[in-house]
Amino acid sequence: MSLITRISIHSYTYELENFGANIMTFEKGGRLPTTKFIVVIETDDGLRGECAPHYMANKMTCAQVVEMAPLLIGRDAEHRTKIFDDLKIAFRHFDRAGAAALDGALWDLAGKKYGCSVAQLLGGFRDRIPAYASTYPGQKTPGGLDTVQAYADFAQHCLELGYPAFKIHSFWDGSAKSEIDVMTTVRDQVGDKMRLMTDPASSLAGFMEAVEVGRACDDLGFFWYEDPYRDASASAFGQKKLRDFIKTPLLVSEHIRGLEQKADFLIAGGTDIIHIDPELDGGITATMKLASFAEALGIDVQIHTAGPIHRACLAAISNTYYYEMGIVGPGMINSLQPPIYTCGYSDQLEAVDADGCVPIPTGPGLGVTLDWDFIKAHETACIAVD
Ligand SMILES: [Mg+2]
Repeated sequence: MSLITRISIHSYTYELENFGANIMTFEKGGRLPTTKFIVVIETDDGLRGECAPHYMANKMTCAQVVEMAPLLIGRDAEHRTKIFDDLKIAFRHFDRAGAAALDGALWDLAGKKYGCSVAQLLGGFRDRIPAYASTYPGQKTPGGLDTVQAYADFAQHCLELGYPAFKIHSFWDGSAKSEIDVMTTVRDQVGDKMRLMTDPASSLAGFMEAVEVGRACDDLGFFWYEDPYRDASASAFGQKKLRDFIKTPLLVSEHIRGLEQKADFLIAGGTDIIHIDPELDGGITATMKLASFAEALGIDVQIHTAGPIHRACLAAISNTYYYEMGIVGPGMINSLQPPIYTCGYSDQLEAVDADGCVPIPTGPGLGVTLDWDFIKAHETACIAVD
């Protein structure tokens, strides 16, 4: 038994170069301050587990981690399922996104305890996985994806890098025509050499625009159609109705939080594929529960965005297709990945092999080494619970 004696939450701030207004808009010479956090769990037998969330390492999830951490002190670090279950009940008034980073650190700790990777602990299914290039949204200012043709050129570049699939995040201006223009131009460029997906990210103005774009997905042979319109992709009834009008599989549930809620959303007919974010949906523990639930129903899942805990899950999930390499764009680094690794871990555009695959880390735990010199030099707060 390894008893949890201390949990520390380290916030750190660094500047993103060539970003200005936000993390999704290129601005030459811009410097955008970005704050993320890391969770460290220590036990009475000298073990240490770490988890550094990427996209969802924001102030809201950090606040939840701080609130949840005291409930773990004195617990057996290997009781991950019981800890997840207890946090689910204790924080039932909230979305419980903070549980994910704590769970990730517990899995990292367990892997290091036994000298094996989390992928091995979960039961390996694959050693690498094909990635799809998941684009930045378009922008009206110069740089990045600033024209429809820029999407087509970038898709061609991704194809040449080895990516087998490409997901469009379009201009998100609410217009079906704008969405379809990008989709058509990209399809014309890459032909049938890539699987294509589009994600309006709940931006289309209404249900009929969602139907219009869905029919274009059918005509253009899109692989999936994600979060179409402005119900925030939360109405199972609305998505089920949409599915009556189109043939392309819907990928909805990125914005549905909770193990039972996602299961209910699928059963209610709200999606064809379940979308799981290990950084929001209860970490590795809950991600694997959801993936198994879907597998038993003969349904696929997709993992949202990228990071070490994502790769650990994908190592052991059989019913999925791709790793989301995102977000990426021409002349832009992936702003979601913090610069905190000394082991070569990368979610940047060029990190795929010639087959468009990324490797599953093989080292103990999550298999990554954090740059604590950088983290300490950029640390803005450290909250410790013991
Ligand atoms: Mg999405």
